[in-house]
Amino acid sequence: MHGNVKRPSESWAVFCLFARDVRAVRLVMHTNINASECVEYVERLAAFGTRHTLSTTTDGKRGIGAARLWLSEQLRAFGGNLRVELESHDAPVTARTPSGGELVNVVATLPGRLATARHRRVYCMAHYDSMNADIMNALDDAPGANDNASGCGIVLACAKALANTRPDATIVFLLTAGEEQGLLGARAHAQALRAQSELREVIVLNNDTVGDPGPMLLREGLPALSDDPTRAVVRMFSEGLPKAASGESVATIRTLGGEHDSPSRQLARAIAGIAQQDASVAMPWLIARPDRFLRGGDHTPFNECGFAAVRFTSLAEEYSRQHVHPQMRDGRLYGDVPSFVQGEYLAAVARLNCKALRVLANAPSSPANARIVAAGMEQDTLVRWDSAAEEDVARYEVLWRDTTSNVWQASRSVDADVRELRVGVSKDNAYFAVRAVDADGNASVPAFCVAANA
Ligand SMILES: [Zn+2]
Repeated sequence: MHGNVKRPSESWAVFCLFARDVRAVRLVMHTNINASECVEYVERLAAFGTRHTLSTTTDGKRGIGAARLWLSEQLRAFGGNLRVELESHDAPVTARTPSGGELVNVVATLPGRLATARHRRVYCMAHYDSMNADIMNALDDAPGANDNASGCGIVLACAKALANTRPDATIVFLLTAGEEQGLLGARAHAQALRAQSELREVIVLNNDTVGDPGPMLLREGLPALSDDPTRAVVRMFSEGLPKAASGESVATIRTLGGEHDSPSRQLARAIAGIAQQDASVAMPWLIARPDRFLRGGDHTPFNECGFAAVRFTSLAEEYSRQHVHPQMRDGRLYGDVPSFVQGEYLAAVARLNCKALRVLANAPSSPANARIVAAGMEQDTLVRWDSAAEEDVARYEVLWRDTTSNVWQASRSVDADVRELRVGVSKDNAYFAVRAVDADGNASVPAFCVAANA
């Protein structure tokens, strides 16, 4: 089906069936990330047989121990400015880790160059553990090609592409263990991060199951996701009401009508905006929901700790291949194996990550104290903000939109020394945000405006 829109047969209700022939996704060269490199990473990780969190750590060729050693060696081989470490945590005793044990995350840090950006950190992450049909089976094969060697391939590809750069703010490439056992590695890392009081702006891009667009996409009655039917599309989940919000914060959110304006949702919109500027990267489909039903992911512990985090996942998941025992049928291997991973699709999602990392780590901070002045009865709106910390701010942009729109619809720029703007729309009828932009056009994640007296 190459036309992408199939007219339904008469016996079906009227709906559009979008199917993507991934082989048709254009090959576009970009920042050294290509399909064959991404597929190689997936094949290599699947070849460890299993990467179950409780699998062997003493076998040189099989199990999670050999896999993490290989991951750290790859990252070290990229050289440049990357600092690589194995980060160890004690696993809690849970139903899925009955004897506790050691959780080892692989962490590669690309230090930021600006002292004024030390309070910020941008993450590109994926879990490297895997499972088969039995969550406690640490012995049998669990190749986890799509879930989640694909995400690891993206983290590796981005680390390689950026290794020799010096971004304004620090970028962290994080590969976690224990995701399938209950998001354990990510939670341990996020909680340690929260304890660092100097970190005030943490942004997380979590990649999990991003290796192929999936069997088909049902979008009954909904418009096409992109004008270009060959463009790869990836779902991007983000929380609305922050999981970490206190009762007082929830009351403020209710007063503002800010249920769709959490830091994670601002991050999601910012990434979608970045993708629109570059046709070679996958187009994110904004899903206004923390995650898929009945499922979880490593972005959630970061949300629990109050950080902005989104999850990338393929367009539609092939449930018959996930979390199953690999098996031969009609001479073909079934299960979560590398042959089902689509290199061009994976590379497009990797380029999306890489582009977003470049922009977000080089952009200034989100302006602090962004607010609408709600002290008087006025027809228009006065927006105010504090300056961003970095010295390379070239301008600020005030953004606004109708309260029923999920994306920013209007904007106006002001000079870097300006801290307020009057906009000809009533504060009652629109949402406002402010972002800081550097001379290269790298824009911060917008800061949502609360209401204040001055
Ligand atoms: Zn996963």
